[in-house]
Amino acid sequence: MAYNKPIPDPDPLSKPFWEGARAGKLMLPRCTSCNRVHWYPRHICPNCHAREIEWFEASGEGRVHTFAVQHRAFGGWAEEVPFVTAYIDLNEGDRMFTVLRGVDPNKPDLNWIGARVRVEFEPASADVHIAFWRVIQG
Ligand SMILES: [Zn+2]
Repeated sequence: MAYNKPIPDPDPLSKPFWEGARAGKLMLPRCTSCNRVHWYPRHICPNCHAREIEWFEASGEGRVHTFAVQHRAFGGWAEEVPFVTAYIDLNEGDRMFTVLRGVDPNKPDLNWIGARVRVEFEPASADVHIAFWRVIQG
């Protein structure tokens, strides 16, 4: 089935992320001055304001910081309600927003907070693969 949800429009700043996503790799930006990882991509480090940003392949793992069950949505997402959105604490630092996979939105559970998750990528178009995070055991 064709992907029927909004598709991000990659720009030069985020290009390394999208190239990685197509290859099944989670690429994150890191400041080489203070060594902090930040998400979303920026030209200037939000921690120390340096402009020295490099991209690296992250573990693709993290933990659920918090979540919400969505009962209303627009466009292609309306077909998927209810679904769960979450902020992921990335193992390397900072947080990423996602639609959480591997959980039952009809049985929300506070134990999901802190649960281990792994990234996966879903093709939305030839160029854009979307990152989703899935709860894993252990
Ligand atoms: Zn910095």
